[in-house]
Amino acid sequence: KPKASRNRLPVIPHGVEEHVFFDALGELGTQLGAENVERNDKPLKDGWYEVDPNTHDLMAVVDEEELVPSAMVYPGSTEEVQQVVLWANKYHIPIFPISMGRNLGYGGAAPRVRGSVLVDLGRRMNKILDINSQDYTCLLEPGVSFFALHEAVKAKGYDHLWIDVPDVGGGSVIGNTVDRGVGYTPYGDHWACHSGLEVVLPTGEVIRTGMGALPGNNTWQTFPYGFGPYSDGIFSQSNFGIVTKMGMTLMPNPGGYESFMYTFQKEDDLDQMIEIIRPLRIGNILENVAQLRHVTQSLAVSGQPRTKFYEGDGTIPEDIVHKVAATLPAGDHCWAYYGMSYGPPHIRRYKLDIIDAEFKKVPGARRIDPATLPEGDYFWARDRIAAGIPDIHELRWVNWMPNGAHIAFSPVSPIRGADAKKLYELAKRRHNEFGIDLFPAFCVGLREMHLIVELVYDRDDPKRRKAVLDCLRNLIEDAAACGYGEYRTHLVLMDQVAGTYNWNDGALLKFHEKLKDALDPNGIMAPGRCGIWPKQYRNRGWEM
Ligand code: ADP
Repeated sequence: KPKASRNRLPVIPHGVEEHVFFDALGELGTQLGAENVERNDKPLKDGWYEVDPNTHDLMAVVDEEELVPSAMVYPGSTEEVQQVVLWANKYHIPIFPISMGRNLGYGGAAPRVRGSVLVDLGRRMNKILDINSQDYTCLLEPGVSFFALHEAVKAKGYDHLWIDVPDVGGGSVIGNTVDRGVGYTPYGDHWACHSGLEVVLPTGEVIRTGMGALPGNNTWQTFPYGFGPYSDGIFSQSNFGIVTKMGMTLMPNPGGYESFMYTFQKEDDLDQMIEIIRPLRIGNILENVAQLRHVTQSLAVSGQPRTKFYEGDGTIPEDIVHKVAATLPAGDHCWAYYGMSYGPPHIRRYKLDIIDAEFKKVPGARRIDPATLPEGDYFWARDRIAAGIPDIHELRWVNWMPNGAHIAFSPVSPIRGADAKKLYELAKRRHNEFGIDLFPAFCVGLREMHLIVELVYDRDDPKRRKAVLDCLRNLIEDAAACGYGEYRTHLVLMDQVAGTYNWNDGALLKFHEKLKDALDPNGIMAPGRCGIWPKQYRNRGWEM
């Protein structure tokens, strides 16, 4: 996308004098090498997913200058990460760690506080330290992407090992896991599947969690808990440390797999569908994170712009959606279920027969024969992802809008028809109000589901950005009023979402603040991330 090539004024961290900051950067350059310290003063270029910028949020939902780092630094080892942290404490400069910054829809590479120094770990710390083919585990640095891990497993000829990948596989395994992202094999709960962290604390000490604390152990990646409190949790969705190594468990090749797709005709089928899915999912007949997606999303994921179907304002009319859907290989429908059965044929047959009998209880339900779906169909992207093969097809729906970007509303509920209906209607009402096309997908974990609604907008249109943000703020509030909370959110919505988890006069947030002040007395580590502000910032107008 073309951008004005205006010269940008230097961005300076709040509360630090310009010359002090530049001298401090120079000092850090002598430690890390001048080439590993870079000022953020060049014109911002959006690039694209695979060459994503670390200078700003590629999918900005507020003016892109609002969430920019002052500089980017590239440590090459845990020791250099420690040096950066000690430096930040010396000068009271906020730092913001990222692994690869491909957290699109949640802020990308951007820091929460403008002018923070971005600690881009992925650039130089990108080694796969171990792949253990007997224990089915690996040990990674932050710059290892799902693609790189998949390639490495293949290159070693380890056919018996599978990895798990999220919808879009170009990001970092560590980045995705610490932000509690998910994938679609039975190992899809990445946080639950990790084992062992190495963390640089905000005061510069290094710890290893779980068995990693026992010198000479050979169980760091096989037993996640070790002895004593399970401290890993405080390093996910937080700002209590920089993860420099992480262990991850790998899935055994199940000996065969088969994707399947069902379509359902009516919007109202949602209730019955979810009721059918619940016992099958909890009973592991449905073995992976089920995806029940709305047909409007299927149109968008075909990668075609909305203007091809409709030029008007407001949400795209339903009759047009269905008319176009009728021309898709799977035919017209309202909901599509994408699933995967694992194991050799006779094992799959047993499960698929149960699923077929249950799903067909919904009048009009159809099983789509994969042989009728062309090579480029979205079905095959879901097939690859559920088999642990990284993919980026999912991103195609940003083409729905010119300069397309996306941001998610992702509330959690139990797997119940009544909850699905309530959340769907709530989302639909607000989308209609703000004139935003509704792309809902229910992703069914084991005992809960995330409703993932992706709001797609023209990121160069301030009016549309505002509409999307206003819509999201209302959605979060509406959902919280019904008892639903988000599992993850964009930087600019973190205060609001954290604020909805406010039982007992905000006791949980107060606990996090207590931890923050104890672990990070100078408040340098990712201030404000996930709604946790250090005392230096609290109630001073930083919250939004
Ligand atoms: P990905 O490239 O996998 O999408 P990111 O690197 O963008 O992931 O990480 C998502 C978010 O998680 C970051 O914005 C950052 O706040 C946090 N994060 C990522 N990696 C680390 C890490 N190694 N240590 C601490 N926090 C991290």
